[in-house]
Amino acid sequence: MNKYVIVALLVLIISGLVLALPPQAKEKDKGPLEKITFIHYKKSNAKPPWAGGGNDSAATCYGFLAKGAKWKATENFLINPTNSQGISSSLIVNSTNAGIEAWDSESLFNIFGNPSIDSLASYNNGSLDEKNTLSFGTISDSGAIAVTNVWGYFSGPPKTRELVEWDMLLDQTDFQWGNADADPAKMDLQNIITHELGHSAGLGDLYTSGCAEETMYGYSTEGETKKRTLESGDIAGLAELYN
Ligand SMILES: [Zn+2]
Repeated sequence: MNKYVIVALLVLIISGLVLALPPQAKEKDKGPLEKITFIHYKKSNAKPPWAGGGNDSAATCYGFLAKGAKWKATENFLINPTNSQGISSSLIVNSTNAGIEAWDSESLFNIFGNPSIDSLASYNNGSLDEKNTLSFGTISDSGAIAVTNVWGYFSGPPKTRELVEWDMLLDQTDFQWGNADADPAKMDLQNIITHELGHSAGLGDLYTSGCAEETMYGYSTEGETKKRTLESGDIAGLAELYN
């Protein structure tokens, strides 16, 4: 081998090493995989302990699970329509699709993939199982309408942050669900699912009264439908994450 070939080979090897370094360094800086739980309550007499922080102010009306924590790949999800109230699968699926559309239509990135009906899909007792799910069950916490767990990398440099799974549980023991347009005594499926999907997308709850019209406002009640459509804070928060 002549010396020019050797030099060329050395340059190739060294540049290969340099190119390989940044991902390793990035991986090392990544924070731990963590779970954040959001419980959506009916009553507004007490501020939940996790309220506050972030950008939760009347000026912006949006907050994040963690700044920069978003989906980097689109994932499909499972809907288990099994419920004790005789609610049709089609109402559940249509309500979910409308909620998905509300968020995805404001994002340049396709946050939510396609739903599949799966009668085995579950909240998995709040544990990670690499499946994004929506299902009905019982939340022991009194006044809790719904709970959504979101897993991700929330600490470490913002560029390394990422969401990896969500599971939503709707309480069928304490609340009667349906379409509030047809029956205002019902907890509106589309209304609550749209709010919970906001957590799945990376947004936090709002508890300031100045943000009460936002989809991400932290309380709801029977008959409410205003969370079906996004408000300016919801859209601004989503845009800051994805657009
Ligand atoms: Zn919430």
